[in-house]
Amino acid sequence: MLTNAPKGTKDMLPKDAYKWHYVEKAFEELCRRYGFREIRTPVFEHTELFVRGVGGTTDVVQKEMYTWEQAKRSLSLRPEGTSPVVRALVENKLYAEVQPTKVYYNISCFRYEKPQSGRLREFHQFGIETFGTDDMMADAEIIAMADEFLKMMGITDVKLRINSIGCPECRENYRKVLKEWLAPKYDQLCDTCKSRYETNPMRILDCKSPEDQKLVEGAPVMLDYLCDDCREAFEELKSDLEAMDIAYTVDPGIVRGLDYYTKTAFEFISENIGAQSTVCGGGRYDYLTEEIGGPHMPGVGFGLGIERLLITMEENGFVIPEPEGPDAFIAFMGDRAKKYVIKLVSELRKAGFSIEMDSLARNLKGQFKYADRVRARRTIVIGDDELDSGRATVKDMMSGEQQTVAFEDITALLK
Ligand SMILES: [Zn+2]
Ligand SMILES: [Zn+2]
Repeated sequence: MLTNAPKGTKDMLPKDAYKWHYVEKAFEELCRRYGFREIRTPVFEHTELFVRGVGGTTDVVQKEMYTWEQAKRSLSLRPEGTSPVVRALVENKLYAEVQPTKVYYNISCFRYEKPQSGRLREFHQFGIETFGTDDMMADAEIIAMADEFLKMMGITDVKLRINSIGCPECRENYRKVLKEWLAPKYDQLCDTCKSRYETNPMRILDCKSPEDQKLVEGAPVMLDYLCDDCREAFEELKSDLEAMDIAYTVDPGIVRGLDYYTKTAFEFISENIGAQSTVCGGGRYDYLTEEIGGPHMPGVGFGLGIERLLITMEENGFVIPEPEGPDAFIAFMGDRAKKYVIKLVSELRKAGFSIEMDSLARNLKGQFKYADRVRARRTIVIGDDELDSGRATVKDMMSGEQQTVAFEDITALLK
């Protein structure tokens, strides 16, 4: 037990870290270009925040949260990224600053999910949120950013699906229609959907059970029940996407799992190797800030699972370039040379170079082998003879070329 990580968690090992760095750097760079700034919030919050922000009737809150009590306060590890950001926004009065507020985050989230679903219990997410505008341009902007990011990451098999899930006004009307339509099929629904029937009937439409998927075929769709405002907004979104040359399909089945979503809902779905999986999902939530006790502040955002992203990149044959090895490995022979090399390595590192030397008392052959393993670009050898002559032998590991270089010229050579 001591040497096993808890089920559903995973170590990120040094040999894989460069892949994470690669996607993180690309994402951050894109955020900069689109004008989003980073926000970091605590890993845990008051449980009540998620009950309100995610919805007390959702599986996430009812079954999947890591919750504990401390000093008579109920606390929970964050199961998603949006509610904490909204909480921070309200608490720090960011709504009083110039709008819109555009933030991004790179976080880990925690959900106690069944291991067979293949999902991690600690998983990682990139997220984007724009607050303070209900203009569909903001929705189109974050969709464009997700689209560009996935393309940058070499994901070509992805399709954008969009939908509108209306506002509380038109959704109420649709809910009634949907419930009437579902009533004769109620007995055949799965147990989860039976409980959804009263609390959140729209969620029945994206039940994962194949039997239920069959049952809901031909169900009335939200798009046919949108109010004028929501319909106009959806048309505007579509024309904004067209203006940016972003291909999409309208899919009334995109419902989103969380209660606070309004209007725009979208998913980027990868269709590699037959199986469908959502790489990025998001939408609008115009009433979330009020839900958690803040002023009215419309918002729109997306989340993008990093584990899923890396898998999808691999499926698409995208090879993340491995980082370069050290600029040089400096091998030494004898104690006198060791002292000199320690000093030289320190100076070169301070000058900005990546330099390695042996710390295991290996012989020269062993040091060369190690230099090869760490993919050093050059090997520099210094022994008694070199100390006496003030010149070192430098071998370029790529070309195999060798030359002798005066100590004082080593810095220039590495540049
Ligand atoms: Zn509406
Ligand atoms: Zn179901």
